[in-house]
Order: sequence, then structure tokens, then C-alpha cells
Amino acid sequence: MRKLLLSALVMAALGSMQAHATVTDSMIEQDGKTVGDVLTNGLGTQGQRFSPSTKINTTTVKNLVPAWSFSFGGEKQRGQESQPLVHDGKMFVTASYSRIYALDAKSGKKLWKYEHRLPEGIMPCCDVVNRGAALYDNLVIFSTLDAQIVALDQATGKVVWKEKIDDYAAGYSNTAAPLIAKGLVLTGVSGGEFGVIGRVEARDAKTGKMVWSRPTVEGHMGYLNGKENGISGTTNATWPGEMWKSGGAATWLGGTYDASTGLAYFGAGNPGPWNSHLRKGDNLFSCSTIAIDVATGKIVWHYQTTPHDGWDFDGVNEFVTFDLNGKRMGGKADRNGFFYVIDAKNGKLQNAFPFVKKITWATGIDLKSGRPNYVPENRPGDPTASSDGKKGATVFSAPSFLGGKNQMPMAYSPKTGLFYVPANEWGMDIWNEPVTYKKGAAYLGAGFTIKTINDDYIGAMRAVDPKTGKIVWEVKNGAPLWGGVLTTAGDLVFWGTPEGFLKAADAKTGKVVWEFQTGSGVVAPPISWEENGTQYVAVVSGWGGAVPLWGGDVASKVNYLEQGGSVWVFKLAGK
Ligand code: CA
Ligand code: CA
Repeated sequence: MRKLLLSALVMAALGSMQAHATVTDSMIEQDGKTVGDVLTNGLGTQGQRFSPSTKINTTTVKNLVPAWSFSFGGEKQRGQESQPLVHDGKMFVTASYSRIYALDAKSGKKLWKYEHRLPEGIMPCCDVVNRGAALYDNLVIFSTLDAQIVALDQATGKVVWKEKIDDYAAGYSNTAAPLIAKGLVLTGVSGGEFGVIGRVEARDAKTGKMVWSRPTVEGHMGYLNGKENGISGTTNATWPGEMWKSGGAATWLGGTYDASTGLAYFGAGNPGPWNSHLRKGDNLFSCSTIAIDVATGKIVWHYQTTPHDGWDFDGVNEFVTFDLNGKRMGGKADRNGFFYVIDAKNGKLQNAFPFVKKITWATGIDLKSGRPNYVPENRPGDPTASSDGKKGATVFSAPSFLGGKNQMPMAYSPKTGLFYVPANEWGMDIWNEPVTYKKGAAYLGAGFTIKTINDDYIGAMRAVDPKTGKIVWEVKNGAPLWGGVLTTAGDLVFWGTPEGFLKAADAKTGKVVWEFQTGSGVVAPPISWEENGTQYVAVVSGWGGAVPLWGGDVASKVNYLEQGGSVWVFKLAGK
């Protein structure tokens, strides 16, 4: 009996040690509430990016100073869009060119580095970025520019398992942070500009073994445990002829998960090609939020923000779940310029309103049907209607295809009830051209030039009230905003700018109360955590991403910005 009791005590001690070292599903589900770690992309799988810490607040933030900085080194710079993770005293942070580092979270000392060996001929559309990793058990998991997913031992950086998602030579790549839900690691695919087939895949997070896959293009078969699990939608219902076979709808920004609904929410990008005259119909499930039952790999509901897209309004933006009037809702600031409030359980639209000032493609969203009220003459013209059949009528469109919002994630504060949206005001001249699908070649059938709308600013950090649709405050920014947002129970909103500043504003008023120059443009979301009673804030710095590559007139306007690649960590002076 005594022996049994003793071994039970030893087991309990071991158990608590293990709970400290390894990441469990319950720790992940609690991540948004626990201040001692940042285990997930989004500071909780709901993606609220809300830190419950209050030590750094509107009164104390003036004393916020650097604790340490770490350079990713090497000759590889370019865009750094990564959100760091913190667990067990270690920071895990990914960098451009599919690199990942483990650092001592307190001192910044390097523990290990893994550089994924990339083949020639990778085809990332929008810079060689990576947006972060996932933690599960003793593993840190991230995906790569050659469309693989790699799981490393958190302690050593050694590869534990590695799986191929798809063929990089067909245009597949992967840049999003993986999502953990119920022991599964969920990933999407990038490659929407190459006519890939968008999908969500779930693997056993410990082994990498495939559990289910769910295509986001109508007509394609899903699988569960190696068996057919029904096609997505109804073949040819919203896609004509054979076009669905290279239909795009890439799930390139990853997803969120709400344990209370059991659903994972992934956004799907543009239908392929961009030239909408080549594909009649709504083209499901492009430009949609798709809610997938994590247990079965089946689509429970979808909501299409831009049916029959003709502007590259990828519907990939994060679906952030929150409570509104006692119901679980999701907020989504779409690339098309509208903010949507949608019932997280059944996908029913509750509200939709603009979060940017100029929208040309639609006059609004019909709250009954959930469909946009299009402005038909503002759709790029059909090339077959032109005299030579080679170039359709050019239209000016706002937002531009880089969106009212792009990859940079917003934040939600349950304390203020506001969303903090990094928005951009810009437009484009866009026209259509003929195109046919060819494996590994750009599949657009469109040309474009991004244009500024206002002389004094493009970016605007906006506090948006999901109840009223009102913009409560805004802070304008010269360059387009491209980093994400953090909000805290200390009533602060943190975000970075391409001009290099990490800024903090009062969450209620928008008054900027602190800023720090990081030495290169910030295009990544900040985080916060506590260790031994000290609150830290961290952000990755390194200018790049889609704007310098695709930004037309805007790219030339910001071509003075310098590249970089480092992590900055801050704490209150004297702590
Ligand atoms: Ca946490
Ligand atoms: Ca796209």
C-alpha cells in the first residue's frame, strides 16, 4: 500500500514535470488566458491576439525599454512576417527562407537554429516569408516554402518528422503558421496565383500521419483516414466545365479554431484565374470562410465574401471568434474592404460594414441574402469583347488587390469590445487578358497597377465596433500597414509600421503613448507574455512581403525602406 502511494506520488510529480515541459491540448485551449506562455499563433486558437497581462499599461508603458534583440543573421533577409511563440523559457521564431530559431526568452541567447534546405525553383508569390510555428507535445512544427511541414524537437532542433504537402514545381508553397486542434496539426496551402487546389489538411501532430483532407474547391474529393469522405460541394454547381480542376482557393493564411464549436475556420483565396469572364458562377469555395468539423473533416458551413471574384479579393483573412450579446460570433476584416460579423456556429451573417473609406466594386452587403450589391461596370472588362480580343476594358478598383487588409492579423479586446484592424486605403487599375492553365506558370489573365488614393497616408490602424460598424478611432500611417496587432488588458494596442516603429496606443482613444524604432520595417504581429512576474513584449522586424514586389506606384513610394531580420523584446525599465 505504502509502495503504491509512493509510486503514485512519483507519478504525480513526473506528471507535473511533463505538463511543464510538453504542450497539451488543454494548454493550447487555455493559451489566451495563461500569461506565462504564447503557445499558439493568435495568442489562443480563436485568434483574438489579446494578452490578459496588465503590468504594461497606459500609465507604465512610458518606461518600456529594450531587454534584448537577436539578429537572424546570414545574407537572407527579405520580409519577416513571423509571430514568435514562447514556452518553458524558450522563444521559437521563424524567419525568411524557411528558417527557425530557438532562443532563451529571457536573455535572447541562441539555443539552436534549423535552416530548411530549399530546392531551386520554389514559387512563393509574395516573398520568402514565414508566419510562425505551432507547438505540440515536445515538438515545434512549421511549414516551408517548398510545401513541406517539419516537426522538430523543441529541446534540440532535430527533425522528428517531415511530410510533403504538395509539389512546389506546380506552384505549391506554405507560409502560414500551422494550427493545432484536438491533437491534429492543420495546414492550408499557398499557390493561388498558380491554379493550385486549395485545401485544409489535418495530420496527427505527434507523427505527421495524415488524418483528413478537405479541398476548398467544389468538385474535389475529401479523405478521412485514407478513405473517401465526400466531395466538397456539388461538381459543376458553381464552376463551369473543367475550370474547377485548377480552381485556386488557396488556404494560404492558415486558420483559427474554437473549442466551443469544435470548428476550424479557414479562409480561401481567389479563384483561378483572376480573369472572371473565363469562369461563370460563384466559384465555391473561393473567397470564403469555411468552417470544418475537426472531428470529421467535413464542411459544416461556408460564407462567401466575394462570389465570382474578379479583383483577387482572397477571402483568407482570419475569422476571430468572440462573444457578442451572449452568442459566439466571428469577426472578419476581408480583403474586399468589408468587415463581417458571422454566427460562428451556423455561418449566418449578422452584420457587414466597410472598414475602409473607398470601395468601388460593391455598394454594400445585403444582410438578408448575405450577397454583395455589385457595381457591374466596376468589374474588369471581358477581353473577348475588345477589338483584338487581347485586353479587356481597364477599370479603377478600390480596394486594390492587396486589400483593405492583407495577411496582417487584427486583434480583439473583450475588455473594450473593439476590433483593432490594420487597414490600407489604396486602389488599382486592373484589366483582364486571355490565359490558359499551365502547370507551374502564373495563372492570372490580368494586369494591374497599384495606386495611392490619399497623398498623406495609405495605412490606418482602426478601432472597429462590431456592434455598430463605427470606426471609433484611427491612427494614420504613411506607408501601407503590413504587420499584425496585439491588444492587452493593460488597455494598449501594439502594432508595427514599415517605417520601423513599434507603436502602442491607448485602446480606448487611439492616442499613441509609446514608440520605438526597430531599425527595419515591421510586417509581423507583436506578442506579450510574463516570466517571473515580468511582462515582456516582442516583435519581429524586417521589411518585405508583397508590397515591394507587387505594389506598383506604392512600391516606388516606399522603396527607401531597408531590409532587416531581427527579434526585439521589451520590458519595463528596472524590471
Ligand atoms: Ca498563454
Ligand atoms: Ca490571390
